[in-house]
Amino acid sequence: MRYSELANVYEKLEFTPSKLEKTDIISEFLKETSEDVLERLSMLLTGQVFPEWDELELGVGPSLLYDTISFVTGVKPAEIKNLLAKEGDIGNVTEKILKRKVQHILFKKELTVEQVYTSFGRIARAYGSGSQNKKVKYLAELLSNASPKEAKYIVRTVLGELRIGVAEGLVRDAIAKAFNIDVKIVGRAFMLANHIGIVAKAAKTGKAALEKIKIKVFIPIRPMLAQLAPDIQHVLKELGEAAMEIKYDGARVQIHKKGDEIKIYSRRLENVTEALPDIVKMARKAIKADEVIIDGETVAIDTATGKPRAFQEIMKRFRRKHDIAGMLERIPFETYIFDVMFINGKETIDMNFRERRQVIEEVIKPVKGKFGTAEQIITSDFEEAEKFYHYALDKGHEGIMIKNLKALYIPGARVGYMYKIKPTMETLDLVVIGATWGTGKRSGWLGSYFLGVRDESTGEFLPVGKVATGLSEEQLKELTSSLKPLIEYEEGQKVMLKPMLVVEVAYQEIQRSPNYESGYALRFPRVVRIRDDKSSREADTIDRLISLYNHQATSENREA
Ligand code: AMP
Repeated sequence: MRYSELANVYEKLEFTPSKLEKTDIISEFLKETSEDVLERLSMLLTGQVFPEWDELELGVGPSLLYDTISFVTGVKPAEIKNLLAKEGDIGNVTEKILKRKVQHILFKKELTVEQVYTSFGRIARAYGSGSQNKKVKYLAELLSNASPKEAKYIVRTVLGELRIGVAEGLVRDAIAKAFNIDVKIVGRAFMLANHIGIVAKAAKTGKAALEKIKIKVFIPIRPMLAQLAPDIQHVLKELGEAAMEIKYDGARVQIHKKGDEIKIYSRRLENVTEALPDIVKMARKAIKADEVIIDGETVAIDTATGKPRAFQEIMKRFRRKHDIAGMLERIPFETYIFDVMFINGKETIDMNFRERRQVIEEVIKPVKGKFGTAEQIITSDFEEAEKFYHYALDKGHEGIMIKNLKALYIPGARVGYMYKIKPTMETLDLVVIGATWGTGKRSGWLGSYFLGVRDESTGEFLPVGKVATGLSEEQLKELTSSLKPLIEYEEGQKVMLKPMLVVEVAYQEIQRSPNYESGYALRFPRVVRIRDDKSSREADTIDRLISLYNHQATSENREA
């Protein structure tokens, strides 16, 4: 298939605001696509090249991309940045520059979707010394054969910002429509395979092929998420008898085991096995099953105080590439398993939680203080629940989880099958979409951050205000170095960023605001912590923000 066909569809989608129409456009396009390219094409339609759990990533940041565009077009990087400050989008800038260069067309050979995909693969596989040069070379080859419109979408894909308002959910609906299959069946297959391309390809073959898609060991599953509940009483009234567990204040781990091989995935589905040899060792000792996928939380207990250490300390270990053994002694981990998704060839996600808990209890032989099952009580009694809550807090944990004993495991969903109860006010996980350079003592650091809230249907981030407080100098420095590679362009003191980094933000109140695209603003926002464990697709959504707004006890809506 010619890449220009895909570029035309991208363009149509970009200028079609209606979600229904977008679904129709994609569904028609998928119907016409032959089976051999359907998998890659469906991925590209969501703006992804590899599934989120794949270790491959393009690894081309904004500045390497601009250098490549400059190399291909002869336009200086400084001019590209000037144009970018005016246009606000590197895709549009590249298209404009290439349009000016008419002779460019003479050297062109027609690009196919397959070739573009293969080139992306080569870019991602360029590792080690000289990898940057190789990446530039492959990308330059691609761009010099691209038409202005094709180049626009290639560079946007490289930066991971397609800006056509299409997220996976929309492609899932389009697949159902194109191949006339119940969207629930397509949705379930997507939940299990975690790869929209594989699902599209199976759907073309038919319903039976989709139903054959199963959970596989060493392909991580999106974790089930919790809902915040206002208080214990509220939840007990809804559930009656329920399981209460300590909400360990650590980081989520998804452990996969097959025979002797163990892999650990973070909440963002990254393979973190290498950084956590101690958990691997303990898991090997404690898990008495040949093949299993389990869900748990790992915490670092400070031996001096007996309380969990700060979240940032845990994340340091997850990110560690060197001196892993040294860190292991300084920050030892304890891991508590609270769920199971797969065991010995069988999915357990359709069992209820009471049954799943039984499975974990049978499979895990605890190693004291190192690896075990989450501490749990089952009760419908408010006083007992309250006592357990205080016990969890006294141990220094965040609070408790209250779980519906009859509920299934729904990967990737926040369905209210488990509730979290914690004493602090609800915070929001927002994405840093821009920042400003500090002045005076803070010059050279990115100081104030523009925040974005996720629009689930389009995958884009809507501005919801800015935050300038809550971080220590050390954190500001750390954040600046994480954000610098994400700079897309600068306008005076202001920088616009690739939306990747998530921060947890506390605030006094949510207000309506015409000043921000989301329609809302946060009053007195403060950064609580940097959420390295979350990817931007896990940031809070505009729907959640609206729901919090509607439920908050402000004078404004109390009167309403
Ligand atoms: P939050 O990140 O605030 O949405 O809270 C949900 C998170 O709590 C989960 O993603 C887990 O990482 C963590 N957690 C800690 N203890 C438990 C537990 N016993 N059951 C489920 N999740 C837990």
